[in-house]
Order: sequence, then structure tokens, then C-alpha cells
Amino acid sequence: MPLVIEVVPCRTDNHGFLAHDAGTGATAAIDAPEAGPLIDRLRLRGWQLSDVLLTHHHGDHVEGVAELRAAFRGLRVTGHAADAHRLPPLDRAVGPGDAVQIGSVSGEVIDVSGHTLGHIAYHFGAADAAFTGDSLMALGCGRLFEGTAPEMWASLTRLMALPDTTRVYSGHDYIAGNAAFAESVEPANPHLAARIDAARRAPEGVHVTLGEERAANPFLRAGLPAMKAALGMEGATDEDVFAELRRRKDRF
Ligand code: ZN
Ligand code: FE
Repeated sequence: MPLVIEVVPCRTDNHGFLAHDAGTGATAAIDAPEAGPLIDRLRLRGWQLSDVLLTHHHGDHVEGVAELRAAFRGLRVTGHAADAHRLPPLDRAVGPGDAVQIGSVSGEVIDVSGHTLGHIAYHFGAADAAFTGDSLMALGCGRLFEGTAPEMWASLTRLMALPDTTRVYSGHDYIAGNAAFAESVEPANPHLAARIDAARRAPEGVHVTLGEERAANPFLRAGLPAMKAALGMEGATDEDVFAELRRRKDRF
């Protein structure tokens, strides 16, 4: 197992994540929504936190950084160079395409702007895992606070280029609301029905695969004729269909 990944519920609806490389003992937190629960889990496992990888600047993703830094000597905090002015102090500023390490396990930084500008995801190919923050979420995607619909669609398209087996770890558990919206858009999608059923049986099942998302997440399906037909938007561009889906979800 190249990375042992643990989901650590934080705040009211954030997912904190710990990714541990057993070979070197290195452990990264992906985002730092809240220090307490992360520190408790690290103690329970006997892991020493070596890294924090930040996805974007929102408070519910960065507020635990200072306390983690105080608790773990030599902690290295990584985030997007373009957002360094509004992230906690960074030890390593990265950009899209850059490599990151958790011990001996290499990952890649992917630009997923849209929810915010300067939002990045981290993909660890050897571990078949992607940490997507508030870009791609289970059966949904983040709201567009700073970027445009075409920017978010381009971001999701970059994520869709990853292998179908990639486990997707997103920053929040909004699956109940997302499922209701997805069902309202594509009531006859059998993959969606199966996903919703599976989520009911295992509510903690946040680490779905990209292949499952591609089949059931309406926002990833904006380019498909079936989705365009479901919205009465035959002939519209993929971007316009995505924008319409995002508008409908905002009003849902
Ligand atoms: Zn956010
Ligand atoms: Fe968030």
C-alpha cells in the first residue's frame, strides 16, 4: 500500500485527510480544517506529521495550520504560489504540474480553479488517489466563488483525464444534497441510483472512484449527449451545459 489514507471528520462538514507513507514514516495532512481532530488521529496512529498540502485559501481548509505547526517541529506547508499572499506562510510554493512528495511517494499538482482561483488538487498516481478539495466532490462540485463556469469545466476535465480507478477524496461531505440534485437532473441514470444506494448503506464511503463519479456525477457528464438531452440543451457546448447545471444546483 503506497499510502495509507485516513479520513478525519473536522468542523461540521469538512473532511480532513492524513496520508501516511509507511516506508519512510512521512505523513501529510491534506488541508487543515481543524488541528484537534488531526492531532488526535496522529497520536492514535503514532504518526508524526511531516507535511501539510493546502488546496485553497478558504478558512475551513487552512485554519488548523498554525496549531499544527506549533505541534510538529519541522512541519513543511505546501500551497499554490499564486495564492501565497492569502494562505498561511508556505515553506514550499508550487504551481500546476509541479511534483510533491509524501515521503517516497510522488504526486502531481493539478490546477482546479473555479471554486477559487489558485485552487489546486494533488494526484498521487502510485496510490491511485486524488485530493480535490472543493473542486470535484462526491456527486457534485464546489460553488463558483471566484472563477467562471468555463474555468471550472476545464478543471473538471483535467481531473477526468486521471485513471478511472483513482479514488477521489474531496473536502466536504455534501453527498446527500448532491445526490438529490443529481437525481432531479437524471432520474433514469442507473449508475446514479446504484451510487445513492451504496452511499446510504455506507455513509462514510467518501473515497469513491473517478470512474464511479464519471458515471453518476452530473457535473462530469456535461459533455454527454444524454445529459444535454436531459436538460433540453441538445447542440449546446459542454461549457454551457456545465454552466446551466451549476446555476440549477445553486437554486436547488
Ligand atoms: Zn472552499
Ligand atoms: Fe470548503
